[in-house]
Amino acid sequence: MKNETKCLHSGYTPKNGEPRVVPIYQSTTYVYDSTDAVAHVFDDPTAGLIYSRFANPTTDAVEKKIADLEGGVAAMCTSSGQAASLCSILNICQAGDSFVASSSIYGGTVNLFAVTLKKLGIECIFVDCDADYETLVKAAKPNTKCYFGETIANPALTVLDIETWAKAAHENGLPLIVDNTFATPVLCRPMEWGADIVVHSTSKYMDGHAVQVGGVVVESGKFNWENGKFPCLTEPDESYHGTVYTRDYPAAPFLTKARMQLMRDFGCFPAAHSSFLLNLGLETLAVRMPQYCKNAIKVAQFIAKSDKVASVAYPGLEGDKYYERAQKYLPDGTSGVIAISIKGGRDNAVKFMDALELASNEVHVADIRTCVLHPASATHRQLTDEQLAAAGIDGGLIRLSVGLENVDDIIADIEKGLAAI
Ligand SMILES: *Cc1c(COP(=O)(O)O)cnc(C)c1O
Repeated sequence: MKNETKCLHSGYTPKNGEPRVVPIYQSTTYVYDSTDAVAHVFDDPTAGLIYSRFANPTTDAVEKKIADLEGGVAAMCTSSGQAASLCSILNICQAGDSFVASSSIYGGTVNLFAVTLKKLGIECIFVDCDADYETLVKAAKPNTKCYFGETIANPALTVLDIETWAKAAHENGLPLIVDNTFATPVLCRPMEWGADIVVHSTSKYMDGHAVQVGGVVVESGKFNWENGKFPCLTEPDESYHGTVYTRDYPAAPFLTKARMQLMRDFGCFPAAHSSFLLNLGLETLAVRMPQYCKNAIKVAQFIAKSDKVASVAYPGLEGDKYYERAQKYLPDGTSGVIAISIKGGRDNAVKFMDALELASNEVHVADIRTCVLHPASATHRQLTDEQLAAAGIDGGLIRLSVGLENVDDIIADIEKGLAAI
């Protein structure tokens, strides 16, 4: 099936007389007719539902849909994108380990990796997102467990050379984790370029309507964990009656471990109602994404002509630093997000923002409605100047998330903003 069809039909196939739409299973728990039957699902959690901290039928349908869209074998939804990134790393890294990450990633992920994981004894080795193959291969140490990057980085809009990153990770016997939030599987499927694990903040385009915060981790099923570097997957898990994930769950060992160990202990599972809302967003994802791209390229071309703008970053715009790479990885478009650097720095950026009427000033991105954000005073305000620079952010930078309004109205609003400078 193609994307449009998967968005509508994957994950849930009602039988005779069953609801057309995947229902909200608003239940914490599931009933069994004997103690033996309960014991059986504890032995094999894939045999049935136990408790809605591990799995829930509404969420299960969404997980299957997302796994299908990304071309993975399994997916696990989480209560936020941050929880998805956290689970993807902690599933294979423990105190004393390290991992390699692109320095051009979401600010919240930088905090998680550079500050919070450091306190847990896990070192993040940041490397330039444009580092060449040799540099990437050499970045790993003996204790390194994985590589991490973002397809289109939020908010710098750098494009990851996924194939090169995957080759470098695999050269070291390590998996590549890719945050595919901005691209969505409609514009890019990182697993087709070698990524082993894909994570998303589903709060963005996948939901699209700004109604739920969520995340997801997807497993390709192709990585060979039995190379001696991942005893956590290949040796018995004493906290889960001696399960050996690669032996007992060979189809999706990474996510089975993440669910039975991390989800059990952290409890960051989404509410059934949130999964229901996410599913509604996913149903139209494949028809929404091309339209965001169509609007955004016109807006980017318009802004690029203004003498009040120092630079425009939009990987789909000819002349952009990442144009060639975007043509390879994102031939159908590079999402609705544009980064604009207003001349005159912070003061003029604020004037531009405050003059907008249609576009809302909010801490969000990838919404169905056009919205703007000034990262230096909002999402990224806790980063140091060096970290800001490494993430490609200056004081005049505005992240414009082009929505699905008529593009003429969006451009008219931006004209008002530019006139206020
Ligand atoms: C928003 C975002 C996150 C964090 O997701 P939440 O759902 O807000 O926790 C992670 N990565 C990227 C690229 C994001 O845009």
